[in-house]
Amino acid sequence: MLPIGGDPRQGRGRAGGYLSTIKRVAFGTATEKPSGMAEKALLFSACKNRRRPHFGRDCGAKLQVLINSSAGSMQFASLVKATLHRNGIHPRRWLIGVRSYSRYLGYIRPHLLQATEEEFRVRRQLVAKAWEPRQLVAPIGKRILAICPHPDDESIGAGGLLLAHRDLAEIHLVCLCDGAAGGSLGTSERDPRAMAKARRVEFQNTAAMLRASSVHHLDYPDGNISCSPEDVERLRSIVCDIRPDVVTLPWFLDGHVDHRSANLLYALACGDIAATVLGYEIWTMLEPNAVFDITTLLPDKLSLIRNYPSQLATVDYVRYASSLAAVRAYQAGFRPLRSGAAEAFVALPNQEYCELVCKLYGAHAVPTTRK
Ligand SMILES: [Zn+2]
Repeated sequence: MLPIGGDPRQGRGRAGGYLSTIKRVAFGTATEKPSGMAEKALLFSACKNRRRPHFGRDCGAKLQVLINSSAGSMQFASLVKATLHRNGIHPRRWLIGVRSYSRYLGYIRPHLLQATEEEFRVRRQLVAKAWEPRQLVAPIGKRILAICPHPDDESIGAGGLLLAHRDLAEIHLVCLCDGAAGGSLGTSERDPRAMAKARRVEFQNTAAMLRASSVHHLDYPDGNISCSPEDVERLRSIVCDIRPDVVTLPWFLDGHVDHRSANLLYALACGDIAATVLGYEIWTMLEPNAVFDITTLLPDKLSLIRNYPSQLATVDYVRYASSLAAVRAYQAGFRPLRSGAAEAFVALPNQEYCELVCKLYGAHAVPTTRK
């Protein structure tokens, strides 16, 4: 592997090291296998062609020919560095991310090869922001709006955070779907109306435990969240009445079509409000730039999830939530022994969050997912 930050044997200064490394990462060397940037470029082309990337043995040599023929390669490296600085990204961190993330995407999570190039770009942005996740401390706001596409998302994704704010802030719940298509009531025949009714009761129990100041149901059928102007206006009017300073919802790349549609609806309705958005994870792990310690709250969070027996009949969300909390505490380096429990979030100013969502899904595009 090439040394990050320059090769001291070359006797270069710190800046020269960056430029040299950026240049080498961008163009590879004749004697080594393709560098991170080269792999990423191949990954992108593989995404477009919907196939796994193939890193031919002569790839590095081809790139070396390219660099030899390009008199402006150093200028290119300078431009990359200047662009990184302009966007507040440290070059060394960017290099580490570029060199490792394509492997992460392509090898560990090959299904992401089906993602769009825009999704890769947004993920790169999130990785750049997520190097040192900050630890949130309650209270994070005075009025918290928890948007959940289905009854139970609020508890699985951010139950600990909401519990911590029971007596510190107003908690408002907005449930988008009726939940008729999920879970099981233990009967042989599915009864969507009975399921929707049961889930509403379960949600009310959760709202009571959270001491919610208000509860709203928009009652979209599962899998069919509408983003029509009327629906946008309906959500906007609810949110404007609540005037939240913190909004939680599943993060915008979560692997469920309703979770992605919820983001588009929210972004179209509320892109201009002053708030902080905390995207939480349910189906797809995110790159957290914020974590919240729920070590003492984990038993209560699991109790919140147990309010949903209809959902626990098909998925063991209790085990999932407790295991994920342990992983997030480990990654956050909680003391002692990197143990405890945490929730992880993508935390962004509302406007920035909504702009990312609109870039990903567009004003008229329908978000898709494999789930
Ligand atoms: Zn959901």
